[in-house]
Amino acid sequence: MKLWLATIIVTTTLTLGQQVQGSELKMDNDLAYNLVESLTVEVGPRLAGSEADARAVAWAEQKFKQLGYDKVWSEPFTMQYWERGNASLRVEAPFNQALVLTALGGSVGTPFDGITSQVAMFDNLQQLQQADPVDVKDKIVFINQTLHKDIRGSFYSQVVGARAQGAVEAAKLGAKAIIIRSVGTSNNRFAHTGIMRYADDVARIPAAAISVPDAIQLSKMLAIHPETRLSLHMKNNLPGEVTSHNVIAEITGSKRPDEIVLIGAHIDSWDEGTGALDDGAGVGLVMATAALLKQQKPERTIRVVLFGNEEGGLIGARAYAARHAAELQNHVFASESDFGAGRIWRFDTGFGEQALAFAADIQQDLKHLGIAAGTNTASGGPDVSVLKALGVPVASLQQDGTDYFDFHHTPNDTLDKIDPAALQQNLQAWMLMTGKIANSSVDLRK
Ligand code: ZN
Ligand code: ZN
Repeated sequence: MKLWLATIIVTTTLTLGQQVQGSELKMDNDLAYNLVESLTVEVGPRLAGSEADARAVAWAEQKFKQLGYDKVWSEPFTMQYWERGNASLRVEAPFNQALVLTALGGSVGTPFDGITSQVAMFDNLQQLQQADPVDVKDKIVFINQTLHKDIRGSFYSQVVGARAQGAVEAAKLGAKAIIIRSVGTSNNRFAHTGIMRYADDVARIPAAAISVPDAIQLSKMLAIHPETRLSLHMKNNLPGEVTSHNVIAEITGSKRPDEIVLIGAHIDSWDEGTGALDDGAGVGLVMATAALLKQQKPERTIRVVLFGNEEGGLIGARAYAARHAAELQNHVFASESDFGAGRIWRFDTGFGEQALAFAADIQQDLKHLGIAAGTNTASGGPDVSVLKALGVPVASLQQDGTDYFDFHHTPNDTLDKIDPAALQQNLQAWMLMTGKIANSSVDLRK
């Protein structure tokens, strides 16, 4: 199937929101790139629950309308707001110097005078969990675990536990704070942020990540002088509950409008970069996919969901699943783009057994794009995994993530890191997969 499209200039009159640019959007193979460019330049970083998050929601509603979607709406949900403040980490005598760090999302700050203490270093979370409390009490825990690169980013799940659960495990043993080696593969001197969690019955201690070069630096200091003391100052704001939104838009199905083919991405981003790879690329891809498929008059409804507050722990996705619980049986398929902007190299599904022949059929259509057949164990993507757990069939167009964790959750996640040609390949794959499913009557649950 040929997907190169005639160029149609959309010049819909705009009525919505402040800051309506009304910039022209060409309905061509650059559409996904043009959308992520618009989002990252005109909105920029969009931390969930912030003023910028609200501007991103208004941006998305306006673009969906401009792109000719049949229905556009937003759904509110409540969430706990968290905002980064200043943070600093100093090594005391004899190695007096500053180390580069960033707060982990959700972390409390330190007392005004900071926390000054010796360090208890561990190779990974498991080693911390098995530690003797005597070695940890009143210290700053440091987990120094390396993230290795591969195309699937498969080491991430082995390392990210230190970020998510490290504070709870360290506090159980009496630690005053925790710092981790960034869950990232960059050798640049900046830290990778990301969400962390507390438990109700465990003391809440400050949690931060230091850059990979600084983790190496600190480990060398500790090798020479195990009594090295650190002084941590951190001030974060946790003002409480705020409202954010999922943004939803549809191209109504021409024959079976009640059957929903859901494609998604997340609208929020961390605060330090502009959220181009995570997940502006995904936003551009799914918005462009359904807009470009409209002229084919798809038989099933294609619903694009831009989930809010993915970074805080799939908060928007859970709100969507709760609100649409009665309608989930009509969700015939769901898939999300949230792994950067690298080329797609494999097609994975999470279909019923009988639908695997149809999966092979889709993969045949994707083959000329260099996309191989994969497994039937797809998660569908982080937000969509919530729907998979509720029985919705899913697929994952797996992107090459070899370099993804060089940029992930850092100030370096910016538009210039996206290769427009790779994004075009993504868009063609998304259009082929989504179009094929929207024009079929195959039951992917069976
Ligand atoms: Zn993401
Ligand atoms: Zn992320």
